[in-house]
Amino acid sequence: MGRAFVYVILGGGVAAGYAALEFTKKGVSHGELCIISEEPVAPYERPALSKGFLLPEAPARLPAFHTCVGANEERLTPKWYKEHGIELILGTRVKSADVRRKTLLTAAGETISYKFLIIATGARALRLEEFGVSGSDAENVCYLRDLADATRLVNVMQTSAGGNAVVIGGGYIGMECAASLVINKINVSMVFPEAHCMGRLFTPKIASYYEEFYKSKGVNFVKGTVLSSFVFNPEGKVTGVNLKDGSYLPADLVVVGIGIRPNTSLFEGQLTLEKGGIKVNGRLQSSNSSVYAVGDVASFPVKIFGEIRRLEHVDAARKSARHAVSAILEPEKTPEFDYLPFFYSRVFSLSWQFYGDNTGEAIYFGDFSGTSFGAYWVNKGHLVGSFLEGGSKEEYKAIAKVTRLKPVIEDLSELERQGLGFVVAL
Ligand code: FAD
Repeated sequence: MGRAFVYVILGGGVAAGYAALEFTKKGVSHGELCIISEEPVAPYERPALSKGFLLPEAPARLPAFHTCVGANEERLTPKWYKEHGIELILGTRVKSADVRRKTLLTAAGETISYKFLIIATGARALRLEEFGVSGSDAENVCYLRDLADATRLVNVMQTSAGGNAVVIGGGYIGMECAASLVINKINVSMVFPEAHCMGRLFTPKIASYYEEFYKSKGVNFVKGTVLSSFVFNPEGKVTGVNLKDGSYLPADLVVVGIGIRPNTSLFEGQLTLEKGGIKVNGRLQSSNSSVYAVGDVASFPVKIFGEIRRLEHVDAARKSARHAVSAILEPEKTPEFDYLPFFYSRVFSLSWQFYGDNTGEAIYFGDFSGTSFGAYWVNKGHLVGSFLEGGSKEEYKAIAKVTRLKPVIEDLSELERQGLGFVVAL
């Protein structure tokens, strides 16, 4: 049993949706393209799962957040795919791939062949078991990567109103979930091993602003320690957690956000990997010329920093997907991918954007006791990164534009004095 397509997108997440839209813009005939996804629904904007989806009032539900609504483009509902002759093969896991033969084998036993393959398998949530803690399959322990996880979290939240939640991990999943739990009137403790939240991006000064804000909403931070074991009731439900520092926290609900691992396993030994992802060139093309990789699973050259990186951000997924399609359909017209890393988060009344690289010295500006402030990172005499909380649309645009230019900074104190005025003036 088998089917043949010219183009196959493996994975039905954010990157898949944006790639599909680009295929239709550049021209694809009915029946030429298919998307194979383990998830039972058409591609959607994954960031919604830790934001609008978890709200107690008027929560976001599909079809409202199918791609590409996050970039204010068309919203690609199942009907849209049908109208454009794009085959959606949903609820279907690919269990093996043969890049020499250009075939994929599904768990249902179907062989699907392609001329061009775009790998968009994203990543999976790391599990506590991988860190030696067992029991995270209990009914009130939640991870958050896909719609099924988010639906489960909503159900557990509804039965935990007024109760206690423990959030394991201080990254963006932990921070965004903690905010949603508070909004759902659940008492939250956040536990993480680092000295401050968002350890990979925030400096201690930036982190302290957000931690103080969260504390004002009742969140309890337990830092510098990790979970050592769960405590269960006779029905197998978690009732509390023991921490390595010897303390105990009661829990009606546990949310775990301890990082992700890219889904590369189908291609290990067949394609070159780097930095945990599938290595691609500036055309998003892997070590096999018929195979492209985009989104969270791809390690691509970030031209502006002259090195290969793997990014776990929605904007990178959207733009790399578009670029790969352009490189496949219009190879002559498509330049090397030139991407400026961009990451954002929105919780409570807070909203920040970050562009570039957080290396070198951080120079702060704005009012850290108010609602708008930021930082620049200056490395080897150049501005390489910018962070802004509470900016206007124009201000975010300005920090992005200036960061891309990597301007020479001769005088750090002058940059500090000018603050946001530095980018607005340029
Ligand atoms: P994904 O969107 O993860 O899609 C991968 C798809 O591949 C899935 O459908 C999966 O089921 C499928 N798949 C995998 N293996 C197989 C297989 N063998 N067979 C069939 N199908 C398979 N980024 C930001 O910049 N800002 C945010 O605020 C933000 N919030 C987020 C909130 C949450 C809750 C999550 C989980 C992520 C968030 N992100 C955010 C990150 C962003 O969503 C990801 O970077 C983006 O989804 C990556 O897109 P992708 O297409 O590469 O992977």
